Amino acid sequence: MSVNQSGWRPERPSAADAGAATATGNRALMLEEPLIFEIGSTRTTGVDFADGDVRHDRLGDLTRKTPIGLPGLSEPETVRHYTRLSRQNYAIDLGLFPLGSCTMKHNPRLNERIARLPGFADVHPLQPVDTVQGALGVINQLAFWLIDLTGMHGVAMSPKAGAHGELCGVLCIKAALEARGDTERRVMLVPESAHGTNPATAAFAGFTVEDIPATAAGRVDLAALKARLGPDVAGVMITNPNTCGLFEPELKEISDAVHAAGGYVYCDGANFNAIVGRVRPGDLGIDAMHINLHKTFSTPHGGGGPGSGPVVLSEALSPYGPLPYTARTADGHIHLIEEERAQEFSDEHFGGKHDSFGRMTAFHGQMGMFTRALTYILSHGADGLRQVAEDAVLNANYVLRRLEDVLDAPFAASGPCMHEAIFSDAGFPDGFSTLDVAKGLIDEGFHPMTIYFPLVVHGAMLVEPTETESKATLDQFIDALRSVATRAKAGDPSLKAAPHFAPRRRLDETLAARKPVLVWKDKAPLADAAE
Ligand SMILES: *Cc1c(COP(=O)(O)O)cnc(C)c1O
Repeated sequence: MSVNQSGWRPERPSAADAGAATATGNRALMLEEPLIFEIGSTRTTGVDFADGDVRHDRLGDLTRKTPIGLPGLSEPETVRHYTRLSRQNYAIDLGLFPLGSCTMKHNPRLNERIARLPGFADVHPLQPVDTVQGALGVINQLAFWLIDLTGMHGVAMSPKAGAHGELCGVLCIKAALEARGDTERRVMLVPESAHGTNPATAAFAGFTVEDIPATAAGRVDLAALKARLGPDVAGVMITNPNTCGLFEPELKEISDAVHAAGGYVYCDGANFNAIVGRVRPGDLGIDAMHINLHKTFSTPHGGGGPGSGPVVLSEALSPYGPLPYTARTADGHIHLIEEERAQEFSDEHFGGKHDSFGRMTAFHGQMGMFTRALTYILSHGADGLRQVAEDAVLNANYVLRRLEDVLDAPFAASGPCMHEAIFSDAGFPDGFSTLDVAKGLIDEGFHPMTIYFPLVVHGAMLVEPTETESKATLDQFIDALRSVATRAKAGDPSLKAAPHFAPRRRLDETLAARKPVLVWKDKAPLADAAE
């Protein structure tokens, strides 16, 4: 075992040692934890409730007739049960999360502190508007910065995730086409390397999705795109930087061509952290772009939420944005437009054109995300945000250059990458795959990178270090990945059985996804479990 650059590394047991079972199933201080159904009892509870004085039973026929059978534990047992389970989770507060396309960065504690101020955390969406002026002010100020940083005209703050933002932008495109009576444009062009949410969004909004091929250099094939434009094309959805971690230098030319052909340009802005403060999408001719506040501007995410995906809009699409929305007027003011003011505002600023496609959410969006994102923006300042992009790109290039001798880096020859480094499984011997490398990394203490995405790279490994990781952390990760990749290339059989040291070994992920066992059945045969 090599000693990494950060110095001392303790002796680790070999894979063979790990097979040695303990009497309890526990390993060192990692305790094997049964399900609560196996250890709890319906007779035990951590809390004593006085018998209720139920005078009016309004449930009628719906009253439960059999006991519910929920297992209980005493209070200390409950605390221990869930704490033990939580120790089997990996978390950004434990170490690097190199998941490409996810931007898993450290969340400054300052953001959390601000988000928890009662004036933000405890507001109710139905409170009278004059009691939430501060919260609305935060939304407006954030809207101002999002418009400013992207060089766009308006922003819909309410979408609740990147994918939701895509739907918002695509519905704006649809509304704009309908408003000009252009109803024959049914095709949305999406590059092969796009995130799966792009084609899903276009299809959900009623468009037919057609692929645009990628060039050998991992970019959109401009000639193929231009050749496909025509009176049936509503627009394109392009990610920039794209999911191969590469900047699309021809985006302005793409936008000009799409506009000339009567279409609109949607940009998937999930990777905005790589260009924030350096490039303004508005200057590239973008009509709509979502910003994942939970990626570019920190804020915790994962496990399905929470998220926030405001959509910045061009002047052409702003009149169709969902209510409520914010827009900048000629005097530089950003206005928060609610239903009551929409017509008046439209008459004044959109020549009466305002024709919102509707509402996407009941209220204004994710207050907790807004406060965190604005805190991130204000605490970094303009120079700090620029450095966010520069450091994110520097870190990814460091990973790329330090690993390209052991892992095939398909686009490394075409220059630096943006915020993520991509590798392929080329050169692995028969029987060894990207999955083996990911599982081997778990044994080395690292959450694996994104694997098998984007599809345009065979056996893809997409590493996004983000700007918040130090060189020391990156060196540890690089040493671990070097070691595992070298073992894969040498055909080390023990790698095929990794992870050896995790609480669970190799799961049948397909079976778990296709036939998840979601209901506990007493003494279910072990064969039902995914392992
Ligand atoms: C994360 C991501 C999305 C989806 O964003 P969600 O907030 O997860 O809905 C879309 N496109 C790209 C390129 C992404 O990385």
